[in-house]
Amino acid sequence: MAPGGSAFKEEVDSLPKSANYDIAMVKAEKSSNSLKTKNGLSEKQGISSTNGVHELLQCPVCRSSMYPPIHQCPNGHTLCSNCKIRVHNSCPTCRFDLGDIRCLALERVAESLELPCQYQSLGCHDIFPYYSKLKHEQNCRFRPYNCPYAGSECSITGDIRTLVEHLKDDHKVDMHDGCTFNHRYVKSNPHEVENATWMLTVFNCYGKQFCLHFEAFQAGMAPVYMAFLRFMGEDIEARKYSYTLEVGGYGRKLTWQGVPRSIRDSHKKVRDSQDGLIIPRALALFFSGGDGQELKLRVTGRIWKEL
Ligand SMILES: [Zn+2]
Ligand SMILES: [Zn+2]
Ligand SMILES: [Zn+2]
Ligand SMILES: [Zn+2]
Repeated sequence: MAPGGSAFKEEVDSLPKSANYDIAMVKAEKSSNSLKTKNGLSEKQGISSTNGVHELLQCPVCRSSMYPPIHQCPNGHTLCSNCKIRVHNSCPTCRFDLGDIRCLALERVAESLELPCQYQSLGCHDIFPYYSKLKHEQNCRFRPYNCPYAGSECSITGDIRTLVEHLKDDHKVDMHDGCTFNHRYVKSNPHEVENATWMLTVFNCYGKQFCLHFEAFQAGMAPVYMAFLRFMGEDIEARKYSYTLEVGGYGRKLTWQGVPRSIRDSHKKVRDSQDGLIIPRALALFFSGGDGQELKLRVTGRIWKEL
């Protein structure tokens, strides 16, 4: 049977079989039925009535949560202050002039609401007054992380476990176990390298994941290579670790000791603050030996946990 057919059948079944209502009566009967169901539910679980109020606090035009001043037209249609500016004083629902009427009742209702953080399903069990929920959510430690892979505009977000799988499967990132590393970066034609070389390796160490970034970019006028570590987790955790990086050749050595940055800090932010091992290209080519036609760098390093 076609889907339309079965939906129709359901409607017919919900009517008393013996009665012969006209269309208007059927409509009235149906809406009072659905009202009863809703009330029944909200008596049983407080959460569904809170959801109802929450729906009222959603701007009917842009669907975002409304914050004071909440506006309404003379007929009572509400809308948020952003939308009020956009609709040029004409109610989007009934086309009446909006005027400047605030919906104080709804603002007061919002004030009395307490809602769970939107990342509840990700592990946040905090409850917030309506007006401070948004601020919390922008900093909630359970909010999803952005994909730490640089060099592509990747829009994937998720918890650490999801992102580790994603890096492995979709970006083909190398994964290494252990807290020490010895990595070779080889690149032919290093003179062509401008803003576009990124390498990422992930280390599993202390049961956590660390991203080792290696890249070429232009720092002011000077082409440089930079290596730095980011921690897959919150900044407060990241600060418990330290790392060193070393690169050299021909009896010379550059070393860097640092603290991994949380992946909450964007790749670009870390790079722009130059918080890592920076190797001028001329020196990198010197370390590589040869005639400067190939970049061959060996970067060694270690991660440890501060006591
Ligand atoms: Zn709106
Ligand atoms: Zn209206
Ligand atoms: Zn939260
Ligand atoms: Zn990605």
